[in-house]
Amino acid sequence: MQALTNRSKVVSDKKMTFMERIYIPAILKGMSITIRHFFRKKISINYPEQTREFSKVYRGQHVLKRDDEGRERCTACGLCAVACPAEAITMIAGERKPGEENLYREEKYAEVYTINMLRCIFCGDCEDACPKEAIFLTDRIVVSQYERSSFIYGKDILVEPLDQSLRIDISARQTEKVLNFKQDKRFAHNK
Ligand code: SF4
Ligand code: SF4
Repeated sequence: MQALTNRSKVVSDKKMTFMERIYIPAILKGMSITIRHFFRKKISINYPEQTREFSKVYRGQHVLKRDDEGRERCTACGLCAVACPAEAITMIAGERKPGEENLYREEKYAEVYTINMLRCIFCGDCEDACPKEAIFLTDRIVVSQYERSSFIYGKDILVEPLDQSLRIDISARQTEKVLNFKQDKRFAHNK
C-alpha cells in the first residue's frame, strides 16, 4: 500500500550495540533535552489561577436571550438545530397560552431546549441561523463535569436571568457590520 506521508519509520530489530545496551548516552541525550526546555520561556500558565486574555470573538457557552421586556425570544423554529453540524441541539415546541404574553415573545416557544455540550464544536452556526436573535455564543467557559449527563444544558442553564443587571451582554462580540444591520428598520422584528 502506498504511504500517505513520508513520516513513518521502518522499525529494525537489529542487535543493539554496546553503547545502546548501557543506555547512558540515550539517558544523557534525554536529560539534555529536558534541561534545554527547563530554561526556555514557559508557554503554559497556572490555570485557573491565571487566565489568558480571550479573543473578542471567542465562542463559549451559549445563551438564550430575552427581549427588553424579559420575554424569551426563541420561537422554537428549529433552524438552529437544522444548522447545527454536530446535531447537538434538540427542542420541543409549545403553544403560548393566553396570559403568557409576558413570558414568550412569539405564539410558539421552546418548552424544552437542550444543547449537548459534548457534541458542540462551538462553530456558531446556530447563532447565524437564528432569525429571532435568540441564541448567541458568549465568552463564558463550559465548566468541567464528572458526569456526561451534566453536559446536557437545558433552559435552566441556557436562558439568561430575568434580572436586567444579570443579563448576558453579547453586544461587544457583534461586528460593526452586524450592529449596522440591526439598525435597519426593515428588520425591526429582530430587535
Ligand atoms: S455552536 Fe455549532 S455545534 Fe454548537 S450547538 Fe451551535 S451549531 Fe451546534
Ligand atoms: S434559538 Fe432561534 S433558530 Fe433556534 S429555535 Fe429558537 S428562534 Fe429558532
